[in-house]
Amino acid sequence: MFAKDLRRKFIDFFVERCGHKEIPSASIIPEHDPTVLFTTAGMHPLVPYLMGEPHPLGKRLVDVQKCVRTDDIEEVGDDVHLTFFEMLGNWSLGDYFKAEAIKWSYEFLATPVKKDGLGLDKNMMCVSCFEGDKDAPRDAEAAAEWEKYGFKKAESGESLRGGLIYFYGKKQNWWGPAGQTGPCGPDTEMFYDTGRPKCPQCDKIGPACPCEKYIEIWNDVFMQYNKKSDGTYEPLKQKNVDTGMGLERIATLLQSKKSCFETDLFIYAINRLREMAKYELTSENLRKEKIVADHMRAATFILGDNFGVVPSNVDQGYVVRRLIRRSIRHGISLGVSGHFTHQIAGIYIKIYKDVYPELEKNKDRIISELVKEEEKFAHTLVRGEREFQHLLPKILEKKFDTIPGDVAFNLYETYGFPLELIEELCRENGLKIDRAAFDESYKKHQEMSRAGATQKFSGGLADHSDEVRKLHTATHLLQAALRQVLGNHVYQKGSNITAERLRFDFSHPQKMTPEEIAKTEKIVNEVIAQNLPIRCGETTVDEAKTRGAIGVFDAKYGDKVKVYFMGDFSKEICGGPHADNTGNLKNFKILKEEAVAAGIRRIKAVIGK
Ligand code: ATP
Ligand code: MG
Repeated sequence: MFAKDLRRKFIDFFVERCGHKEIPSASIIPEHDPTVLFTTAGMHPLVPYLMGEPHPLGKRLVDVQKCVRTDDIEEVGDDVHLTFFEMLGNWSLGDYFKAEAIKWSYEFLATPVKKDGLGLDKNMMCVSCFEGDKDAPRDAEAAAEWEKYGFKKAESGESLRGGLIYFYGKKQNWWGPAGQTGPCGPDTEMFYDTGRPKCPQCDKIGPACPCEKYIEIWNDVFMQYNKKSDGTYEPLKQKNVDTGMGLERIATLLQSKKSCFETDLFIYAINRLREMAKYELTSENLRKEKIVADHMRAATFILGDNFGVVPSNVDQGYVVRRLIRRSIRHGISLGVSGHFTHQIAGIYIKIYKDVYPELEKNKDRIISELVKEEEKFAHTLVRGEREFQHLLPKILEKKFDTIPGDVAFNLYETYGFPLELIEELCRENGLKIDRAAFDESYKKHQEMSRAGATQKFSGGLADHSDEVRKLHTATHLLQAALRQVLGNHVYQKGSNITAERLRFDFSHPQKMTPEEIAKTEKIVNEVIAQNLPIRCGETTVDEAKTRGAIGVFDAKYGDKVKVYFMGDFSKEICGGPHADNTGNLKNFKILKEEAVAAGIRRIKAVIGK
């Protein structure tokens, strides 16, 4: 079964058999979530609806969502972890719960292919449920549902085999809350036997054994508790189901392959690499090949998103830069010469353009950014080597036979010079590298950047605090004001809100003058002073557009959309949530206006507390 048939089958199953509405994949860059750089799961763009905002298409939704997990980058090179992947998901927003969710998951997996399922063998499958702890009881309900389909609870000491139910703690079988407080609950996971031999730990650990004899294919999360600020859990009023299944992993099983990289989603890119450089298929080269194939696919999707991310040293731009440079490095070590990343990207664009037309639309940008980045990186390599040659006499003069760790780290961090190349140059010059000291500097640096990341996280994924709502409202007022002052070419290109400030990216070709900034502020403050009520209506995309609502993110909401009205001043397609009245914002101040990319400006602003 090809990946495209699999996507279709999943959607059709949930639409036709169980009355779900299909929604399109949201952007890979979260629209109003300051806590993460990328959409990491299908539920992510749906947070407002899981928190209780009504969704225009109802209570049962299904989609295929583009995801990026930078946390998994280190694992790429194994058979099942990818930086970019597609997540198939179905949701109940306060509608059906455990019985239906498990029934449909099971039926979709086990119904024969000739009918509307995937025809997977139940005897190759294991499931897991939450074992219970001081916060919440064992999920006996979920286990009882699995028993209806012939699964049996694993006895203590029983050897791992298909058809069993295992119980695990929070680490494995619990989701959320996303921030400190909010919806959370137990989940049930489905695993499938890869057919590989068991490792010595398998019988003890069960299907979650990290040797990946069994791989996790699907996760059904049951949001049934609310974690309160005092750390206790209470039953949630709106109980939701949120499921996620990895498309590439399922395709691997259905195509009887050993690894995601052998499926139709990767094989053309891999074959191209093998044509470009005739390397031996050693296990080390196979790992490099997977990394290049994975990273180039992720880079193509990130560059190809309508958001207009380009390689840079911050945020998403930094991630894409690292992905491209790591691909180039591994490509070079496989023996690929000349610019090659855009060729691999071209293959992915061709494979995916029918499902993700934005790739075709943004093709020129993807290709030109890759070529530019490849040139820049070549330059970096030259510069790093020059710096190395410059340092070399000093090191040799001191009769060191080892390059000090901090010097190596400086080459790595400041010059962007890859460690492998530093090691190679050292070897050529009879030097060793002080790996322990290098690792020490590296760790220190990582801890510092992690501290930065935690600070960012304090907003919380599900943070719909009053401050965030008000700042979100302020971005709508800001966009409307900018369109009055600068013109109708202004469109939102990105937004990032924390409890402290808003950050708004928009299209505009040049720096704003101080007069334009003052005028924009003045307009927003006037609208705040007018105390306009904020209303929300539901309509079709076309109707919203005819009525002059703006919204570049309409693809996300399906045919019915929500429009937020702030008096007559601003009409914008948006998922919410917002303040009740513009007056709640008290006042508005722009702190900074700067460039982020060609044709895109960024404003940071605050409101009165
Ligand atoms: P794992 O333990 O294998 O890393 P996970 O617990 O992180 O998986 P979830 O967050 O539950 O996975 O995501 C739901 C589904 O998405 C998983 O069951 C899996 O099929 C898929 N998935 C998760 N991470 C990846 C990844 N990095 N690459 C490919 N598919 C993934
Ligand atoms: Mg994971």
